Amino acid sequence: MKTLVIIGSGLGALGLAVRMAAMRWRVTVCEQGPSLGGKLNRWQQDGYTFDTGPSLITMPWVFDETFAAAGARLGEFVQFQRLEPIAHYVYPDGIRLDWSSRLPVMLDTLKRIEPRDVDGFMRLLQLGARLYELSQETFLRRAASEPPDGRTFKALRHLPLRYGWGNYDKTVRAHLRSPHLIQLFNRYPTYVGSSPYGCPATLLVIPYIEFAFGGHYAPGGLYRIAEGLVQVGRGLGVEYRTGASVEGIERERGAVRAVRLSGGERIDCDVACMNGDASHLERLLGHAGPSEASPEERSLSGFLLLRGLRRDGPELAHHTVYFSQNYEREFTQLFAERRFPEDPTVYVNAPSRSDRSLVPGRGETLFVMANAAADAGPWDKSHTALARERVLARLAASGLALSDDDIAIEQVWTPRTMAARYAMPGGSIYGKHSHGFRRAFLRPGNRQGRGLYLVSGSGHPGGGTPMVLTSAKITSELIAKYEHA
Ligand SMILES: Cc1cc2nc3c(=O)[nH]c(=O)nc-3n(C[C@H](O)[C@H](O)[C@H](O)COP(=O)(O)OP(=O)(O)OC[C@H]3O[C@@H](n4cnc5c(N)ncnc54)[C@H](O)[C@@H]3O)c2cc1C
Repeated sequence: MKTLVIIGSGLGALGLAVRMAAMRWRVTVCEQGPSLGGKLNRWQQDGYTFDTGPSLITMPWVFDETFAAAGARLGEFVQFQRLEPIAHYVYPDGIRLDWSSRLPVMLDTLKRIEPRDVDGFMRLLQLGARLYELSQETFLRRAASEPPDGRTFKALRHLPLRYGWGNYDKTVRAHLRSPHLIQLFNRYPTYVGSSPYGCPATLLVIPYIEFAFGGHYAPGGLYRIAEGLVQVGRGLGVEYRTGASVEGIERERGAVRAVRLSGGERIDCDVACMNGDASHLERLLGHAGPSEASPEERSLSGFLLLRGLRRDGPELAHHTVYFSQNYEREFTQLFAERRFPEDPTVYVNAPSRSDRSLVPGRGETLFVMANAAADAGPWDKSHTALARERVLARLAASGLALSDDDIAIEQVWTPRTMAARYAMPGGSIYGKHSHGFRRAFLRPGNRQGRGLYLVSGSGHPGGGTPMVLTSAKITSELIAKYEHA
């Protein structure tokens, strides 16, 4: 039996583990932290349950396929619920709108906000659809390192040349007039930790995917997905170890032989696969040189408040976004000045509004998040207090004021918390940012050498839950092709 050690237990690792175990590999998953799941994780206290990472699922069939590849059924563990509306948006001037994945509802919204933008909206979706079709045949189907096949060449003939490869924000502005709709479309690149002012228009595939296939929730919390995969993996003989930090990958004459844990233990293996940040791979291989992505290259991190409320309400949608006054300035502060924005856009996820299993009878769970630059410091007491104040000021100015008496429990996570929990440079959530075409699409490959692989949101095809499960599929195919003999 061939042996595989996966370094990290993020969703990509969990997906790869079940796929390889189903192909009769002996798989060991080594996680440095205390729990499995990586960023897909959970915090529970006093009867309140919080997802601490992802809150919105797109492309749900990718999850079904992962379980099916291991001979299991996602539905045995969790039944996704399609959210309607996907999100409610609140602007500083008092305008509010529901963002739906139902076309008639969307058309009503567009006509109310700016009737002349209906046509531009449809053309943006059409561009996103063409980019999606193209990526399904190329980028999302196979490893970037593999030579193109007939299907790839055929798909490339349909490249949307006009607009598709320009700047994201400029393309959105070329299609829409309403500053409210422009700001809304410009939020999507943050789904991969990037700025709309720096990334290519190809990321318009993200709003298309959300609109076409909907946004979904997993009742009981998204962590159920990780629990389900671990249960399936255990059934197939996968060994999961927590508190197991890998500090080296040992190679002999170019072939992987073992991974070495921080306590000195060696685990022999034929193949090692990195699930942590791609930029840490060099260090694990004992190579000199920079050991992680520089601050300028990093995708966004986040500043989080996990708040358990004593009482029911306030009236909130499952997802609400409270926009800042000046989006461009916010991104300049995040990426050029590398500081916490003076007026941050704040996202509030209130899953307990529809899922009462998350609260102890009464109350709510609020996951409050603002984008933050991925830097290690300072994030001391006063810096953290200032960021918290700015987040709460934006919410209060937009009509969501909560008194301290309403808060039963609160946890504050800074980029420093994320850096420590997930071993990501500066707490960046998606590896390197996607500014410029090369960075967006030529990410570190899934095959890194003989017996050496990468399954991670920091690698191909990118971050986000469906992408890392796609990464697991592509990586399992590469391992089967190159290492099975
Ligand atoms: C706050 C937040 C909100 C998000 N929202 C969404 C969302 O709504 N929708 C969505 O689709 N995605 C969202 N994401 C992104 C999504 O969670 C990630 O892209 C995805 O879960 C990353 O999975 P991964 O396989 O790359 O592994 P990761 O989750 O990055 O896990 C890697 C694991 O490797 C471990 N590790 C690293 N180095 C070592 C080592 N040397 N030895 C042992 N272990 C090691 C780390 O401890 C970590 O547990 C969000 C993420 C965050 C943090």
